[in-house]
Amino acid sequence: MLIEQPSSLLRWLYPHALWRMDPRERAVYLTFDDGPIPEVTPWVLEVLDRYGIKATFFMVGDNIRKHPAEFEMVKARGHRLGNHTYNHLSGHLHGIRSYVRNVERANYYLHTNLFRPPHGWMKWTQYYALLSRYRIVMWDVVTRDYSRRLTAADVLNNVKRYARPGSIITFHDSLKSIDKLRTALPAAIEWLRDENYTFKVFDE
Ligand SMILES: [Zn+2]
Repeated sequence: MLIEQPSSLLRWLYPHALWRMDPRERAVYLTFDDGPIPEVTPWVLEVLDRYGIKATFFMVGDNIRKHPAEFEMVKARGHRLGNHTYNHLSGHLHGIRSYVRNVERANYYLHTNLFRPPHGWMKWTQYYALLSRYRIVMWDVVTRDYSRRLTAADVLNNVKRYARPGSIITFHDSLKSIDKLRTALPAAIEWLRDENYTFKVFDE
């Protein structure tokens, strides 16, 4: 199965989730998962500032607890916050109640109505339990910046190949990604800008 651009079957599994925004608008939505961490998040913020871009950060509650200064930086620069559970939980390993409780625990810091499940997957019971309180945000393009088998050029090529109007594009402000992001993120932003895309965040 193609990983970079989720299949219509996968999209159909979570029909109320956001996969792609308005395809008639030449805009993309950059998202960053798994932070905040001091080794990567401040650097991502600098890059976004350099290009005048706002993005959405799906953060892990336990990382916020450990790195409050970096969390405050993300907020202070006006980016949109998203919930990514407190412990980066895998849905299939948890029951509905412990999963929802973990999401709520992260929201003690985040106060957001956006949620993205770790690994892009959760049980239907968990999905429907969260749907009343959250907009579930999946993605149209995952750059696979976390993959040890990919180079920075591969990550950039994934953006070039799969980004299209309305794409929600996923990166990670994580240690696995940073070696690729250092060149791939600015290059991807410049390519998107040269292709006349604007950069948007999700409405409140
Ligand atoms: Zn994640």
